[in-house]
Amino acid sequence: MVLEIVKYGNPVLRAKGLEISDGDERARKLADDMLETMRAANGVGLAAQQVGVPIQLAVIDVSGVEDRPSELLVGGKNLDIAAFMPMILVNPIIELGKEIEEGLEGCLSFPELNGEIIRAASVKVKARKLDGSLLEFEARGLLSRAVQHEVDHLNGILFIDRMNSAVRTSLAGKLKRLQKLARA
Ligand SMILES: [Zn+2]
Repeated sequence: MVLEIVKYGNPVLRAKGLEISDGDERARKLADDMLETMRAANGVGLAAQQVGVPIQLAVIDVSGVEDRPSELLVGGKNLDIAAFMPMILVNPIIELGKEIEEGLEGCLSFPELNGEIIRAASVKVKARKLDGSLLEFEARGLLSRAVQHEVDHLNGILFIDRMNSAVRTSLAGKLKRLQKLARA
């Protein structure tokens, strides 16, 4: 089922997600709906907060993006990304690499708004799958950016928080309009 995506201005986007316990059937159903919702919106990632549920659950699929490459490594070995997509992250914890890079980002909760964001070029991820088993990998490129963006959502952090002030100032008018729509 395609769910409604919560837009900027709704307080649920600022809520820290609750941890999910193993075998949570509601989380499983929600993950299915989130995948469908993300695909319908042509997104590469979606966090539970964005469908109004503040829990530690995010979905990602970067396999359709050809102009922005991703790498996924397990034990230092580069693996085929397609085998991991779509990816469902339950209770993810990340460790940022030291190198940083700038890249364009958008967010399904901020229609028609994007900006350059500096993030770690690589990230180590530890999460659970829906069946409770461990998912551990290192990501680079777009996948690294997508994981960091979604884990931020799970902690109530939005991509505008990470924009430098010049970028944010240039987007101030659009942000105000979004907030007004959310209150209407
Ligand atoms: Zn987002």
